Amino acid sequence: MFPNPNRMFKSLLHLFFPAVCAGCKTVLMANENVICTVCRHEIPLTQQHLNPVNEAFKKFYGRIPVEHVSALLYFHKKGIVQELIHCLKYRGQEDIGTVLGEWYADELKNNSILQTVDAIIPVPLHPRKLKERGYNQVTEFGNALSKSLHIPVNTTILFRQLYSKTQSQKNRLGRTEGIDTVFDVSFSKKDHNQHFLLIDDVITTGATLEVCAKALLKIPGAKISMVCMAVAES
Ligand SMILES: [Zn+2]
Repeated sequence: MFPNPNRMFKSLLHLFFPAVCAGCKTVLMANENVICTVCRHEIPLTQQHLNPVNEAFKKFYGRIPVEHVSALLYFHKKGIVQELIHCLKYRGQEDIGTVLGEWYADELKNNSILQTVDAIIPVPLHPRKLKERGYNQVTEFGNALSKSLHIPVNTTILFRQLYSKTQSQKNRLGRTEGIDTVFDVSFSKKDHNQHFLLIDDVITTGATLEVCAKALLKIPGAKISMVCMAVAES
């Protein structure tokens, strides 16, 4: 057997720059990936996917029709999850999205509502932010879900408008009205009657997801579900 050069390089790199846990910063063991075993056990799981009428789902009551809403983790200020999301968004650790996506896909694979999903739609990042950050923090989460659940990702159907005069005018009156105008859809007849799975990092008020869903609901026969990495406990 020939040694795998990739693996050899990784081992060497690991020797000089040991990988640390994205949650607690302790050095990872050889069998650990991105998040250490202790953090994986301590991380607060919501188990929302087991309860169709969970608190994330209820956030959208009376706002928009949704089929399924759930998040993998609870987001607490100064907790492990906040650290993970911070590293994912601001320190270039895109692999956190992959790990969380693989983890959640494993939990969601037997969910009967999600088995009817036709496309995964990441919440688009503002083009200016995308340029600054270089990546959308939801991309790898979506790719991991897509690979495990065998559902394609669609990044063209929902988009953010570059400039919105209306937004700045409306901001003084109310933020929700403002963001309403920023997202739009581009679709053809083949996109009718589809079940879209919107994905994002953290659900707080749900305002962004709501406006994204409203845009997607312009497509005839559209159904919406949402899956996020975390939800802020209210
Ligand atoms: Zn850890």
